[in-house]
Amino acid sequence: MKSSQMSDALIHQYIINDPLHQLFDAVDAISVQGYDEKRRVIYWNVGSELLYGYSKKEALGKKLEELIIPEPMCDLVVAAHSDWINQGIEIPASEVTLRHKNGHEVNVFSSHVMFTNQYNRQQMYCIDIDLTDVRYAQNQVILKENMLEAVFEAIPDLFFLMKEDGTIVDYHAGNKNNLFISPEQFIGKLMGDILPSEVAKKFRIHIEKALQTEEFSSFEYELTLPHGAAYFEARIRHLPEHNQVITIVRDITEQHKSAEIIRQQAYFDTLTSLPNRFLALDRLSQMLNEAQRKNDKTAVLFLDLDDFKKVNDSLGHEVGDKLLIESAHRLNKVVRQEDTVGRLGGDEFIVLLRSIADDHNALVIAENLLTTFRKPFEIDGRELILTLSIGIAISPENGRCASDLLRNADTAMYQAKALGRNAYSFFTKEMNITMIRRFEIEEQMRSAIEHDEFDVYYQPQFDANNERIIGAEALLRWHNPMLGHITPNEFIPIAENTGLIVPIGRYVIMQALKFLNRWQNIDQRKYTMAINLSPRQFRDVDLLSFIKKFLTQENISAKSLELEITEGVLMTGQSYIEDVLTEIHRLGIKLSMDDFGTGYSSLSYLRQYDFNVLKIDRSFINGITLNKADYDLVKATIAMAHSLGLTVVAEGVEKREQMKLLKELMCDHVQGFYFSKPLPTEELIEFSAHYK
Ligand code: C2E
Ligand code: MG
Ligand code: MG
Repeated sequence: MKSSQMSDALIHQYIINDPLHQLFDAVDAISVQGYDEKRRVIYWNVGSELLYGYSKKEALGKKLEELIIPEPMCDLVVAAHSDWINQGIEIPASEVTLRHKNGHEVNVFSSHVMFTNQYNRQQMYCIDIDLTDVRYAQNQVILKENMLEAVFEAIPDLFFLMKEDGTIVDYHAGNKNNLFISPEQFIGKLMGDILPSEVAKKFRIHIEKALQTEEFSSFEYELTLPHGAAYFEARIRHLPEHNQVITIVRDITEQHKSAEIIRQQAYFDTLTSLPNRFLALDRLSQMLNEAQRKNDKTAVLFLDLDDFKKVNDSLGHEVGDKLLIESAHRLNKVVRQEDTVGRLGGDEFIVLLRSIADDHNALVIAENLLTTFRKPFEIDGRELILTLSIGIAISPENGRCASDLLRNADTAMYQAKALGRNAYSFFTKEMNITMIRRFEIEEQMRSAIEHDEFDVYYQPQFDANNERIIGAEALLRWHNPMLGHITPNEFIPIAENTGLIVPIGRYVIMQALKFLNRWQNIDQRKYTMAINLSPRQFRDVDLLSFIKKFLTQENISAKSLELEITEGVLMTGQSYIEDVLTEIHRLGIKLSMDDFGTGYSSLSYLRQYDFNVLKIDRSFINGITLNKADYDLVKATIAMAHSLGLTVVAEGVEKREQMKLLKELMCDHVQGFYFSKPLPTEELIEFSAHYK
């Protein structure tokens, strides 16, 4: 009431310029306040009400420092005001932080003027512009800057700011070492000035692309740096408002390496680093396509290391691995740049010859491959000899697609093995027939036991001296409804390969021992039974317990059983074979060396293992009446065997004259068509009943 009256009077007294107040009243974006000499409010526009929260009514008559000056500034403001009034020292315009009615800070840009009115009174006008939005915007800019700085620092990427023509104007790098060259060397320059031309060209193309779109244009490039090859990804974006381009460069060397490792694992053999089966066959398909267009020939060489399993088993996998690595190395040296050497797995390799003029080229390379293996391998200070068997298939004659060629080369490789290894063989149509036959036999054999297709025949053996029956050899027979009669020479190697020899072999043992029991009982004589064992059967850990079980069950003494093995069994040199042989001897079962003379006929085997019987191969018996060499050999063998305490059996005796000579040479036992062919059980029983 009173104060308002007083303020009205005050206002009246201090009014300087009505039109000016009218103007100030019209603007609410700016705060205009008027103060008398005692800093009492004489004018307060709407802008002031909005900015400071005091209504005009509240403000009028109040002192400046009571309203909007924060406490700590009050003395300063009062002093400055009085200096202006008394000494004419102007208060300069400045940014200040004042106070809202509710206590909040209010940032303003404050300008001041001093008037002297018609009553000769001095009055100060303050014009305050709200800086809240400006400050906010400024803060936001600072925040963004700080944030960017932090981002730049935190991530290893490099940021380059460029003009639209590619001139580098600025950069950011969290770690300056990532720049590889100093900023002075690139600021103001084009990428082309500092990067190899290939890479610079990519930059140019992609800057150009970025200028056309509103998206990132990205690409990868490789640089050779002092520490090796490095890979980068660059992403370029146009900043059209600034006529600039930002380029973000990321070092992707590590990703590149991992991707490379994955690629390596998917396509390359980890041990030898050669293309694996997948990649090799893919390359073969490509070669075949190319060859078809050009009317060229392509050769596929299927390589298999001979007896590699033996190396692995006897010298260990580490030596085996080293041999494979060295083999890969040698193979690679033989072929031309445009050819491929791959590893199919295990000890199998493949060589692909691109665009060969004729088969002779493949032959020359195959010979070179064999030759390169002639030099012994040196592994861990040890010299090892390793040979190869190679099968060759040539497109288009032997197949037009990768899988046909591979299969046919594989077939030819089998042939090379059959030729005695360390050899090569070209695929022929006949081989295909052999292979088909092999597959058929294999397939039929799988169910042959189940279908009761096997039969065991017995070929009697005789004392050479008195020609009395002393026993028999069990020989397997197979009649299949589809394939007819198949000879053991054909099916035993297949059974051996597939492992089917294990159950088949057990079947023979069981049948033979059952029959021996029956035969001994009928004739009341202690006959012997010879049973052939294949190498694969030695890996059957239950073989001996199986034999023991049937010996007991059929009441047969161990010394009536003779197990025949060939040198092939011993050549593998594996320790488990030795264990089985020792156990055979320990049980009192006789051990017989079959087909003596056909293999290496190494005397050392006869000494090393406890053999009881030596069987001279049929081929020598056949020759004793025909040539002196065979006669001498048989004579020497018998003498040698006797000196080692072995019983000698002559196989394949067909003629009287042979029998006569063998008697003279003191051969112990004989078997052969001269006496009898292998017979089925009933016929043998009949034969032995009449023979006595
Ligand atoms: P082997 O153990 O050397 O058997 C002797 C082979 O010579 C038998 O052939 C037999 O029929 C044949 N033979 C015997 N006397 C004469 C003769 O006077 N003249 C001629 N020309 N041949 C004669 P077979 O039965 O065809 O067996 C061939 C080979 O198959 C056997 O040679 C043996 O290595 C193997 N084999 C046969 N049965 C089995 C078996 O049950 N298990 C295993 N692992 N191999 C077997
Ligand atoms: Mg035999
Ligand atoms: Mg034999």
